[in-house]
Amino acid sequence: MRLRNVTGSREVIAACDYVIHNPQECKGKWKEVFGNDHPIRIEIGMGKGRFIMDLARLNPNMNFVGIEKYSSVLIRGIQKLEADPLPNLYFIRMEAEEITSVFDTGEVNRIYLNFSDPWPKDRHAKRRLPSREFLQRYNEILIPDGVIEFKTDNHDLFRFALEELEPAGWQLKQMTEDLHHDEEMMRDNVMTEYEERFSSKGNPIYKYVIAR
Ligand code: SAH
Repeated sequence: MRLRNVTGSREVIAACDYVIHNPQECKGKWKEVFGNDHPIRIEIGMGKGRFIMDLARLNPNMNFVGIEKYSSVLIRGIQKLEADPLPNLYFIRMEAEEITSVFDTGEVNRIYLNFSDPWPKDRHAKRRLPSREFLQRYNEILIPDGVIEFKTDNHDLFRFALEELEPAGWQLKQMTEDLHHDEEMMRDNVMTEYEERFSSKGNPIYKYVIAR
């Protein structure tokens, strides 16, 4: 997702209290950042942030961090958060490849990947957020029994993500190829912006939950 020409978005982000501006300095200190020791859950590639904001609102006893690469997208989340502040949610503008310089071993309780960019060319496979390279990074920051939840409407990306599990040492805990018709996996489902868009077109939504 890239909204072009959102003028001044970097300046607005720089002035925003809901954005962590020096995330590397928070590594190992996230409890201090939130002022409590509640579990920390993160969404990587949050887009405009609807999912992570809804989760934070529904779970006041947990902390959330939304990560997004582009200022022009993040700004939309900031505008929503400023209208409806949440004490248990921060945003970071960063490239997810740097994630291990922001969170220490076991500092993250759960990771959400929603409608990640497919990077369809083979030579870009390492950039896919459910790739083995990224799974290794998640391995470093997640608690031992932590899980990753991944949703997408892209069949090729989902198949790729499943194939990455074994070589990276992860195990499938739950899986559906049609989330919106899977009663059990839909029970606590929180819709993302992309999920609403694609499911309303009739696309099936794929989801897995994995652990080590
Ligand atoms: N999760 C949202 C948005 C999906 S679009 C939803 O489901 O509605 C994917 C988003 O991930 C885009 O906004 C894109 O900029 C962001 N993204 C993709 N690769 C990223 C990376 N390596 N680091 C940080 N953000 C990334």
